[in-house]
This record gives sequence, structure tokens and C-alpha cells, in this order.
Amino acid sequence: MSDLLTEIQRRRTFAIISHPDAGKTTLTEKLLLFGGAIQTAGAVKSNKIKKHATSDFMEIERQRGISVATSVMTFAYKGKLINLLDTPGHKDFAEDTYRTLTAVDSVILVIDSVKGVEEQTKRLMEVCRMRNTPVIVFINKLDREGRPPFDLLDELESLLAIRVRPLSWPINMGREFKGVYHIFDHSVLLFHPHEKASDDDRIYVQDVNDSRLEALLPESDLRQLREDVALIEGVYDPFSKEAYLKGQLAPVFFGSALNNFGVKELLDTFIEIAPPPQPRMTSERVVQPEEEKMTGFVFKIHANLDPKHRDRIAFLRICSGKFERNKFYHHVRLQRNLRFSNPYSFLAQEKNVVEDAYPGDVVGLFDTGNFKIGDTLTEGEDFYFTGIPSFSPEIFKELVNKDPMKTKQLEKGIRQLTDEGVAQLFIQPQGNRKIIGCVGELQFEVIQYRLLHEYGASCAFVPLPFYKACWLRGDEKDIEAFIRFKQNQVAKDKDGRWVYMAQSEWFLQTEMQNHPEIQFDFYAEIH
Ligand code: GDP
Repeated sequence: MSDLLTEIQRRRTFAIISHPDAGKTTLTEKLLLFGGAIQTAGAVKSNKIKKHATSDFMEIERQRGISVATSVMTFAYKGKLINLLDTPGHKDFAEDTYRTLTAVDSVILVIDSVKGVEEQTKRLMEVCRMRNTPVIVFINKLDREGRPPFDLLDELESLLAIRVRPLSWPINMGREFKGVYHIFDHSVLLFHPHEKASDDDRIYVQDVNDSRLEALLPESDLRQLREDVALIEGVYDPFSKEAYLKGQLAPVFFGSALNNFGVKELLDTFIEIAPPPQPRMTSERVVQPEEEKMTGFVFKIHANLDPKHRDRIAFLRICSGKFERNKFYHHVRLQRNLRFSNPYSFLAQEKNVVEDAYPGDVVGLFDTGNFKIGDTLTEGEDFYFTGIPSFSPEIFKELVNKDPMKTKQLEKGIRQLTDEGVAQLFIQPQGNRKIIGCVGELQFEVIQYRLLHEYGASCAFVPLPFYKACWLRGDEKDIEAFIRFKQNQVAKDKDGRWVYMAQSEWFLQTEMQNHPEIQFDFYAEIH
């Protein structure tokens, strides 16, 4: 096998997604411990923003700036090289997460057993479903009095539009939690609160009816377990790896991240079934990872908030070939050749300069303003990777310049910040009015802070009464006719596409009914 093929097959690139507080950080830390990437618990910094305050966010960003390493965590486990891509927990930064999901090959979804499917879970899963990303579900916090497991499974299926298949099953819950039964290999893992689970706690039996279980579990728990397993076998289709890989079926595990319980089984299964780097769609053709020529795209840009070091790091997901330090690559949008003398890798918390990287890897490229989210690098071919989403913002405000002497700085700053994906920029041709669209209020505070501190430009925001931005699709003539009479409700996005700014659901419905010739999209692809 060629080196390239061996490297591709070793790699697993994924993200953990969850509603805040479900246990993503805790699970990440346990996985890293298994991989030997960290030695002590508590080493993974939560990227959570506890208070709704800019200073809090800035502090976190500053810490992250020092250790951008936490954006991608690479560790080895059982002969595989795992790239775990971090996603921001705060909902105001959900767009960043959606884009990160375009750079992974699979995800692990963490659900809180007490709360079930929550708002963020739904949004994140929609993005996974759009891309048919394979999903493994981990139902966490079994040491707490959670919801009945069958209810949780039903909720997953109905709210997330995916079929599920439990591969493990909890034996009681909360204070009475005894452990899990592994349906896939007929073993029980017994739970001892406050003790680390070890392989000795795992007992292999014939099946759930094995009489040896009688000595291990109270009668009522065992009876319930046997009934549950019989029901599972009767109701759910057998697990199919093929359906999982197509993103149609999600295997489900139960456990407790905090107690490191059920995590190893999750990781072992992940290693066995999760896909290696996958082919990716471009504007011209599908790119196969094993192609000799290097290709990749930028899915995230991280700005260093220290004003003394104004550099940015562009995160490049390698899609094919071998990436090499100091080699010239073709920047498709700029039609320029660039080379990178200090590309970062993210091995175990430290930033290291890498000589080469392979499909599935993420390298950090120092950037002085050449990159935008969605940019593609190749060895000469002209295409760009598709499918990087941009969703309608939820809050809209007009950007007002408060210092006419600094107009240029403001223009430059807002362009660069929106290139980084901090917010979306819409411009109304009449009067060049700039509208900033965000998912949360926190983003506006961040923009204001950064414009002032990094560009010396002061601005104010005036709230606008818009509810959604819809990208208009259809015949050019029809769109022109539509926008002619709606100067105040239309704008162009950064790529020059027309959007309709709906003031309410009612307005939107009315326009949709009156203009069946036009499509109103809540979602557009970058480019
Ligand atoms: P994130 O917001 O998804 O990253 O969640 P965290 O990992 O920070 O966890 C949120 C809270 O839930 C923390 O207080 C954790 O200690 C707690 N937690 C995580 N896993 C478990 C678990 O298995 N059982 C219990 N009882 N608490 C947990």
C-alpha cells in the first residue's frame, strides 16, 4: 500500500456536538486521556462562556489565542490517528460550529439523559443530516435520574429525523444505576460510583439470559434488563454499519462521562466503525482523498486578539494528497501561489511546525489577510469545495460609523471580521447601508470591541426590525423586478447575492405566495 493510502486509512477526523452542558468538554477530556494526549484531568479548558459578557468572551479568546491548540486535538489510539475538532459551545457562535462540521468525517452527539434532545442539538443535527454525516450518540449522565431510555430514543428519532440503534443499554439509573449491558458483545460493565471503571468490571456472558447475571444484579433490575433487551431486539433493526456510514442510522451508547463510564466502549466502537477521510464535493468534481495532488479548504479563521500580534491562523482541512511545508500551493480565489513556512499541527496541546500533513488532518496557516472562510488551495486546478453553509442570521443591526475620520479603518475591519466568519455583512445599495447579521447579541459586542481595539474604529449598532434574511433564487429578471420596489427590505450579501430581509414570518409568507417564481432560501453556501 502506498504511504498516502496508509496515512489516509489511519485517520479519523470528527467533532463532538452537544447542547451546552450535556458533557462535551468532560467527554473530550476522557477521550484524550485514553489517547494519552493529556495526563491529568482538568487539562481541557472549557470553551464555555459562563456569563453573558464580552469580557468573559475576550478572556476565553485570549486564552485560546495562546493555545490555539485546543481547536484541534490530535491523538493516537489503537493504531489510529484521531483528529478531534473543537466546536464552540455557546449558541451565539453556532455558525462557527456549522462550518467546523464541514471539515469532519463523522460526529459524536452527546445527549444529557435528564434533558433529552435540546434546541442546539436539533440545529447541529440538521447540519449533519444535510451532509449525511455519520453520527454516534452518547447518552450521558446516567448517574442522574434521567428520562426513561426508550423515551429518549423515541425523541431522538422523531426530533432528529434519524433512525437509532442502541448498542448498549443502561441498567437502572441515577442513584440505582448499576451499569450498562453491551448488546453488541454481550458483556456487562458494572458501575461503581467514584471509582474508575476497569476492564475487570466487564463481564462477558452468553446473552442477557445467562444465569451468571443473577449473581451480579438485583432481581428486579435483571428482569427489567431482560425485558428491555427483548424489546430492543424486537423493535429495532439490527445495527448496520452501512446505514451508519450513510448517515441514516445512529448507534447509541449510554454512560457517564464524568465517571469515565462507558467512554472506552464508545471510543473502541468509534475506532471500529467511524469512516476514514471521505471524498469531497467541489464546484467541478468529487475529490478523492487518495489523489496525489494536495487539495484543502479553509473552514475557520482564528484571530489573535493580542494587538501586538495581529496575525491570524487559517485552519485548512486537507482533502487529498500530501501537504508539504514550503511548497507552493494555488489559492484559487486570489489566483496566486502561496507557500507556508510554518504550518502548525495540533499534536497534544502544543503547536508544532509540521513538515507534512495528510487527508483528514487540519493544519494552521499563518495568515496576514489572504484567507476567507471557504477558500480552496490546490496544486493548480481551479475549483472550490462546496457545502460550507451560511444560515440566515437572527438579529440584524445597522452598523453606524461614530468616527468619520476612521471610515477606512471601519470598512477594512468589518470586511476582515466578516471574512473570519464572526458575523454576516449585508449591504443595501441605496445609501451603502451596512447591516450586520448575527445569531446572538454577544457577537455584536465582540465586533464592537474588536473594531475598536484592532482597527481603531468606533461604531454603534442600531437595531433593525428584521426577522430573517432569505437568499433569493430564480430568474434574474424576476429577481430584479422583485427588488425594484423593496429598496428597504433587500440587500446584497458579501458575495453580491440578493437577500430579502423579512420583517416577520407573515411578511415572508405573503411575499412567498405573491412570488412563486422566486425561491426564498434560509440557507446559502459560501461562494
Ligand atoms: P459541555 O458544556 O457540553 O462542554 O459540558 P461539560 O462537560 O462542561 O459538563 C457540564 C456539567 O455537567 C459539568 O458540571 C460536568 O461536571 C457535568 N457532567 C458531565 N458529565 C456528567 C456525568 O456523566 N454525570 C454527571 N452527574 N454530571 C456530568
